[in-house]
Amino acid sequence: MFDIFNGKKEDGANKAVDMFCYQCEMSMTGGCGSGGQEMGTCGKSVVESRLQDLIVFGAKGLAAYRTHARELVDKNLQEDMDRLLKIDDVISESMYFTLTNVNFNFDEHIAQLMKLGSAGVEVLDLLGDVHTRHFGIPTPVKITQNKAEGHAILVSGHNLDMLDGLLKRIKERGLDEKINVYTHSEMLPAHGYPHLREYKNLKGNIGKAWFDQTDLFSKWQGAIVVNTNCIVPRDKSTKVDSYIDRIYTYGIVGIEGAKKIKHDNYDELIDETLKLPEIKGFDSDETLTTGHHYKTILTLAPQILEAVSEGKITKFFVIAGCDAPGKGGEYFREMAKELPPTAVIITSSCGKFRFNDIDFGNVPGTQIPRYLDLGQCNDSNGAVHIALAVANALGVKDLNDLPVEIVLSWMEQKAVIILLALFSLGIKNIYLGPKAPQFLNSDIANFLVETFNIHVINDPKEPKAQAREDLEKLLA
Ligand code: SF4
Ligand code: SF4
Repeated sequence: MFDIFNGKKEDGANKAVDMFCYQCEMSMTGGCGSGGQEMGTCGKSVVESRLQDLIVFGAKGLAAYRTHARELVDKNLQEDMDRLLKIDDVISESMYFTLTNVNFNFDEHIAQLMKLGSAGVEVLDLLGDVHTRHFGIPTPVKITQNKAEGHAILVSGHNLDMLDGLLKRIKERGLDEKINVYTHSEMLPAHGYPHLREYKNLKGNIGKAWFDQTDLFSKWQGAIVVNTNCIVPRDKSTKVDSYIDRIYTYGIVGIEGAKKIKHDNYDELIDETLKLPEIKGFDSDETLTTGHHYKTILTLAPQILEAVSEGKITKFFVIAGCDAPGKGGEYFREMAKELPPTAVIITSSCGKFRFNDIDFGNVPGTQIPRYLDLGQCNDSNGAVHIALAVANALGVKDLNDLPVEIVLSWMEQKAVIILLALFSLGIKNIYLGPKAPQFLNSDIANFLVETFNIHVINDPKEPKAQAREDLEKLLA
């Protein structure tokens, strides 16, 4: 049996709450489950309650990607609007599913989660299609890391359209010789898109995953824009106050004290940037590589298949997902570092910043890079497209029979919908960490182990040793 609490479930005041629900009039005082009850007044069980929480989390991730897609779909193209509507229907139905007294059937909860997962596949494909339609198909590019100069704006988040709008406005005002633009965190893959690369003042990348922003932004003398999640709130650190006057938020993102970009008007931000000092102290000679979108990788399919058939490539490791602060993320670096040279790493999302400073070189005897950065978290579907293409070429019917291992880091609800998307495609044997999701309980975790053979890494004390131990199993 899988123990989600690692054998540490506590009693008394610190007892983990099995369920918590206070959404209707029948709620017990303080919420059903708050007193340790294992069933709500309505008859909702702990497992149903947690599955409904999971449905809501999946719907949140789906809603985030749907919002990104809405910004770029062609409103005059019926096919785009139909794809959006299909996703909207699943979000609405999933929320309805969690209403009081709607469903008390375990299998139907699982079916709803799989429906969410299928909509997740759809939204990631839609987003990938609209990105490449607007900005071209990314190609590999090497860029500077932590090197900056002049008056500059640092853009963080996932919204490529906003980045394009800002670069366009700087150019229209004839200021592209005077203002440089740099990417942070999930903006890194922007450099791979041909249309965005045309802007000569889109320079390199600064910093790593989202949670370095308090330190990084306090050192950055220029302006900053955060255009989607993940932003660090003001009261977390006094360092935030040192850049609060220089930070702008966009769209749904907000932080107390920051200025907001409204109606895609970037003029105030641009004017402010010219008044701020030129950047100093960012003069590293590091580089990063990005731009291995799956549509580009598929053009390499013949070479990849040849390398597989000749034994030059023995495994593909998808090491991807959201990063979060803490030692646990070292697991993913160690896993990537210890892979044999015949293994290709496919990555995406901000988890790659744990190991994208390493030069993995090419697969020996080939020109195929061992490190492939598919892009942002929404480009994770690329791994599935690559796997499907390899399976078709090799005549393999079940994706689980391919020499592909999936090791995912998860942080928030966008990762939840990606995981549900993988489940809905029948993908098994995923390693998930670095911590067990606390919204599961032992019953649900056991169901996932039995149905999908999921391996929850579960916050190892020694992430490096754990990575090596797991790697031995994955390579066996
Ligand atoms: S829906 Fe059920 S579990 Fe939730 S508050 Fe109402 S009675 Fe309690
Ligand atoms: S990959 Fe996940 S954690 Fe990282 S910035 Fe994107 S949503 Fe946030």
